[in-house]
Amino acid sequence: MPINIAIDGPAGAGKSTIAKAVSKKLGFIYVDTGALYRAVAYHMITKGISPSDAEKTAEELSKLDKGFFSLRFIDGAQHVFAGNEDVSDKIRTPEVSMGASAVSAIPAVRKFLFELQRSIARENNIIMDGRDIGTVVLPDADLKIYLTASAEERARRRYKELAEKPDCPAFEQVLADIEQRDYNDMHREIAPLKQAEDAVLADTSDVDLEGAIDLILGLIKKHCKV
Ligand code: C5P
Repeated sequence: MPINIAIDGPAGAGKSTIAKAVSKKLGFIYVDTGALYRAVAYHMITKGISPSDAEKTAEELSKLDKGFFSLRFIDGAQHVFAGNEDVSDKIRTPEVSMGASAVSAIPAVRKFLFELQRSIARENNIIMDGRDIGTVVLPDADLKIYLTASAEERARRRYKELAEKPDCPAFEQVLADIEQRDYNDMHREIAPLKQAEDAVLADTSDVDLEGAIDLILGLIKKHCKV
C-alpha cells in the first residue's frame, strides 16, 4: 500500500516549499492540488468564460474528457496539463490566482478534480497539499498535517518575496489580502479549509524554513514507516 500524507493549511503557510523539500528527501511524489484549480481557471479564461460563472464553468466541464486536466511527473517535478498543453508556468499569474479562488467554490469543479487526485494517491507514495486533502480527498491518509502560521508572519514572508519586485504593495495590503483569502477559503460552502479532527497541527510562526522542514520530516518519521 502506498503511503499518503496530506498537508492542508491557509495560503502562505509554506506548504508547497516544505512539502516539495520533504518529498525530495523521502523519494515521494509531491502533488500540488492548487495547480489543478489554477489549470481549470486558466482553461475557462482562455475560453472566454468568467471563473466566477458557475453555470458556464460547469457546462464547459461537462464537455471535457475526465482526463482533460492531468498531472505528469517529469524528473520528479509536477507538470500540469490542460489537454495537451503544459500550463505549469501560465497558471502562476495574479489573474489565474484570483480565478482559481473563484472556481474552487464551484461544486462541479471540485467533483471533476476529485477522482484525479484520488487516483494519484492510490498508486504512489505521495505528499499532497491543498485545502481539503485531509478532510475530503484523502480521509484515510496515513498522516494528516495542518500547517499554519499567524497571518502577520505569513504576510511578512509574502511581503519579503514581493519586495524584490517592482510595484510592491504596502505591507498592510499584503496582510489584508492574506486575511481575505483565509476568510474565503474557510467560509465557502463546499470543502472549506479546516483542520481535520485527526490532523496534527504544525505552527511555523516561530521557525525558519529549515526548522519547518525538520519539523514535518520528524512528524512523518514518527507516524509513518518511511
Ligand atoms: O494552493 P494555491 O494557492 O495554488 O491554490 C489555488 C486556489 O485553489 C486557492 O485559492 C484555493 O482556494 C484553491 N484550492 C482548493 N482546494 C485545494 C487546493 C487549492 O480549493 N485542495
